[in-house]
Amino acid sequence: MNYPDLDWLVRQAAFRFVEQLAEQHNGVVPWGALVNDFNFQGQRVVLIGASGIWKPAQLELPISIQTSPSDPYSDSPGPDGLLHYRYQGTDPSNRWNVGLREVMNLGRPLLYFRAVEKGWYTPLWPLVIVGDNPSALTFTMACEDVDALVPGIAPVVADEARRKYVTRLAVVRLHQAGFRKRVLSAYRNQCSICRLKHVELLDAAHIIPDKKEHGDPVVSNGLSLCKIHHAAFDTNILGIRPDLRVEIRSEILLEVDGPMLKHGLQELHGSRLIIPKKKEEQPNSERLEERYEAFKAAS
Ligand SMILES: [Zn+2]
Repeated sequence: MNYPDLDWLVRQAAFRFVEQLAEQHNGVVPWGALVNDFNFQGQRVVLIGASGIWKPAQLELPISIQTSPSDPYSDSPGPDGLLHYRYQGTDPSNRWNVGLREVMNLGRPLLYFRAVEKGWYTPLWPLVIVGDNPSALTFTMACEDVDALVPGIAPVVADEARRKYVTRLAVVRLHQAGFRKRVLSAYRNQCSICRLKHVELLDAAHIIPDKKEHGDPVVSNGLSLCKIHHAAFDTNILGIRPDLRVEIRSEILLEVDGPMLKHGLQELHGSRLIIPKKKEEQPNSERLEERYEAFKAAS
């Protein structure tokens, strides 16, 4: 092959396309756009399939892989700091697994899509396959810097620690984007305290911070909050009682200031949190209790 060949150019263009798409949607990408909106030299190139490993009609080799949302940690790095992707089925020589092996041998980068909710994915790229483990029926994968990839040369492990670092950072970003999308959807894109419905002003707050062991990125550990109420919650200006009432710290209630203090904080004292209808998406009461204890201790 003469480099850069069609395969390489399509991949580079696809990465740019997915990057823009993810920027538009806060780190997540919609199925419809991946199927319909990417064009290369006037032709529509489909970037995702019904499941697993996907190869567009224009290319000889797979361009993307995807995973299901069932296990929130299925795509976390293993003890080796890298990602592990299961073979399609159990036959190492089925055509999809053979395709990925060739992608590995040629050092071609992949797109990775993790399903967050129906029709939405968190993307990761460029992913390179760095190992094939037929006995475990998995491929080992790592994230790379786009600029570190050279056409025709399989990525060399110049610095293994750096590769693990890049992979870990990419996975953290992926989890954060997926968490945000799931929490905001559960709360129907509104602040659970003040009902503000501007998605660009909303965050998915953790009830128990993610640096703690049980601060997992699950909807029941999340709250959809506007920027102001997120910051107020994180800094203990505002607390949420386990009975879902908002509590404003006592000395803040005595302050006199402009409309943001009055309407945005003081008047919300004692109001009830708006929560998702589905039980499994509602804030977990033990987590709320633990977090409320921390609020009381801080005030
Ligand atoms: Zn708010």
